[in-house]
Amino acid sequence: MYIGGEFVDSSDQAYIESINPASGELWTYIPKGEKEDVDRAFQAARRCYESEEWRGLSPTRRGRLLRKLAEAIEDNAEHLARIETQDNGKLYREMVTQLKMIPSWYEYYAGLADKVEGTVIPLDRQSVLNYTLREPLGVVACITPWNSPLLLATWKMAPALAAGNTIVLKPSEFTSASSLEFAEIFHEVGFPAGTLNVVTGYGHTVGDLISKHPLADKVAFTGGTETGRKVAINAASHLADVTLELGGKSPNIVFADANLDAAEAGVIAGIFAASGQTCIAGSRLFVERSIADSFVDRLVKRANEIRLGDPMQPDTQMGPAATPGQLKKIEDYVNIAINEGACVSAGGKRPSQPELSEGLYYHPTILTGVDNSMRICQEEVFGPVLCVIPFDSEEEVVKMANDTEFGLGAGIWTNDLKRSHRMARVIESGTVWINTYRASAYNSPFGGVKNSGLGRENGIEAIYDYMQMKSVWIELSDEISDPFTVRT
Ligand code: NAD
Repeated sequence: MYIGGEFVDSSDQAYIESINPASGELWTYIPKGEKEDVDRAFQAARRCYESEEWRGLSPTRRGRLLRKLAEAIEDNAEHLARIETQDNGKLYREMVTQLKMIPSWYEYYAGLADKVEGTVIPLDRQSVLNYTLREPLGVVACITPWNSPLLLATWKMAPALAAGNTIVLKPSEFTSASSLEFAEIFHEVGFPAGTLNVVTGYGHTVGDLISKHPLADKVAFTGGTETGRKVAINAASHLADVTLELGGKSPNIVFADANLDAAEAGVIAGIFAASGQTCIAGSRLFVERSIADSFVDRLVKRANEIRLGDPMQPDTQMGPAATPGQLKKIEDYVNIAINEGACVSAGGKRPSQPELSEGLYYHPTILTGVDNSMRICQEEVFGPVLCVIPFDSEEEVVKMANDTEFGLGAGIWTNDLKRSHRMARVIESGTVWINTYRASAYNSPFGGVKNSGLGRENGIEAIYDYMQMKSVWIELSDEISDPFTVRT
């Protein structure tokens, strides 16, 4: 682990095995952190936060360090991407693109570090100067999932560091290797010891301890909704601030007037990219009834052609599920759907090729004959399973699309400009994509409504979520006030 600027074993020298989901092979060991390690990490982060070395660093110099970090990540993008693929089975070509994007976050927030400012408040009393200061929160705990470990850590760490906080990061127990490698790169950049601390271990132990640690001034979490709720309750025990990026059951809505080639590509990417293991997976397809049959035929043909295989190979289109538990969850949900009356139009099973037998593969799956109230349409599978629901009117589809506990993303495919804006307003979700899907950027806010989350990541405002305001009052006159009269 990485604590106080040193690479250390866990206090009880225990390890967790990390398995490559494409081959089923054990490829590395991760330290299994305990309470003592969590305490040491928070103490190191707090010490650093209070140190002249970090506190006294001007925002411009913090920005300079973040730019250096961006460069170092760029230089190591391929190495880090390989680790991510080995850990979570996502396509190497997707991970390398993701890793090459990550430096932009550090560059963007490096540029903001010296631009966040307080204001002078124009009080009625001219003899008093009142102004605000924006200050960091202190120590930020970051807890991340397995699907995009370094990208999702970056969404938290870049604004948090730019704002002047220090960090305790806990990656998923399934994919901790890349965060530890990242720590090595971070270490070389020259941040003061304790600026970043990485503690690895299980969620129910280390994650739980981190989210309720009294030295955590904020908890920034990405993961499942149920875990997010526990994290928020933990953080509330000492009134720490929280940002929660949680699950989804996002609708992809295709109107008959859409460019159907583009819609087809968007729907396929929305649910089968990363084997459906993305929070924004477009897992519910609503398609206008007049084109439903022909559009589903196109999707089924396309899904059946998807090349499953080794995520390191450039011609592979879909890799494995990330963990045995995840594969079981996918299989269970497909069975639940079938028992509830769904028809399997594509996939619905594991592949039979012997070369895929050791990996956690599952065929791209399309379920028809489903109803939006069924469990398969209401609960997050986090796998390559698409539910198809035809609709007859705009009003009907809005009602069904919004009829879920989630609200993370939504895709709308139409060539009717007025309809696209109408839909963007009434769909309940943090992001609406029109004639595109899965797009994100460092400067565009991202987050969920309803049970998909709390707060936003990315964009200018995200840096303020890692800061607090102080109000400063200065009496400018020599007038002595009556202690028993309230001055207005
Ligand atoms: P998870 O909730 O199981 O785990 C996320 C993290 O929380 C891990 O580091 C885990 O160790 C930790 N954790 C587990 N139990 C904990 C506890 N009791 N207290 C504190 N921490 C605990 O999620 P996952 O399976 O790793 O990831 C998949 C989920 O993440 C999906 O629901 C997906 O939608 C969500 N996700 C959301 C976004 C987003 O931006 N909204 C992005 C990616 C993934």
